Amino acid sequence: MAEFSAGTEPYTQTLAGGVVAYVQPDGTWFLNNTGIIVGDDAVAMIDHAGTEQRGRALMDTVARLGEGRPVRSLVNTHHHADHTFGNYLVPPETAIIGHELCREEVIATGTAVTAFFEGPEWGDITIRPPEVTLTEALTIHAGDTRIELRHFGTPAHTTNDVVAHLPEHGIAFCGDLLFSGGTPFAVQGSISGWLATLDDLARLDAPVLVPGHGPVGGPERIDEVRRYLEFVAEAAADAYERGLTPLEAARELDLAEFAALADAERIVGNLHRAYAEIDDPDHPGKPLPLPEIVGDMRAYLGGPLRSKA
Ligand SMILES: [Zn+2]
Repeated sequence: MAEFSAGTEPYTQTLAGGVVAYVQPDGTWFLNNTGIIVGDDAVAMIDHAGTEQRGRALMDTVARLGEGRPVRSLVNTHHHADHTFGNYLVPPETAIIGHELCREEVIATGTAVTAFFEGPEWGDITIRPPEVTLTEALTIHAGDTRIELRHFGTPAHTTNDVVAHLPEHGIAFCGDLLFSGGTPFAVQGSISGWLATLDDLARLDAPVLVPGHGPVGGPERIDEVRRYLEFVAEAAADAYERGLTPLEAARELDLAEFAALADAERIVGNLHRAYAEIDDPDHPGKPLPLPEIVGDMRAYLGGPLRSKA
């Protein structure tokens, strides 16, 4: 049995027959959620975990719930390492599916993100990108369970967000389009695109929404993320006008109701993204210099970024 630090032991939550959310408390950096969908003859997974140990623990749970059925597909909701580092732990014959840009980013990024964090025992990570890609939509089936994959056409949390919607069950695995109890992070996406994507997500009309981080919820989660992003956009417009750098703006900003969200230092990255959109509104999601922005986040925190994963 894997050993995880107190308060971060994963648990499963059954959402419908054969549909399970695998939740990793407390949802902070690198503690992401995944999905396990057990059909009559095969298992589909939504996302993997971010360390070898956490990935192996997930595979143990998949094997237990799948009762010998093959894992036929693994969907990556986006390229971020917490959702993709464990990809190599599924069997080689499992199809890994993601947005075309997810594949590109996984290959381009490799394990670089590990340099930004202190804490995790990463293990022996081997990068495996999605081999099946989509740009707009793709439907897969886990036995009799229909899983509709959708990209809403604009950068949001990243350039390559995919939602896995199970229309017959009213369940959507939303990846990091939703954070529950944690600070949304748009540094590699787009504030305006994310707001538009939340409208599309709401139109799915799914009563059960699995966020990328934090407890399973419902449509109220969409409004929470929307309020935060609108707050960031407003704060950025004001601070930009006054000539503040994103770090200066973050330091003087009262996070008010959002101060209770975990990983508050993401405000610095979010302001960088919002500034970039003010400067160049025609290119949402364009790459920003991550090492410099992480440096600003460290300065805001007064120390390194830490993960409990
Ligand atoms: Zn993410």
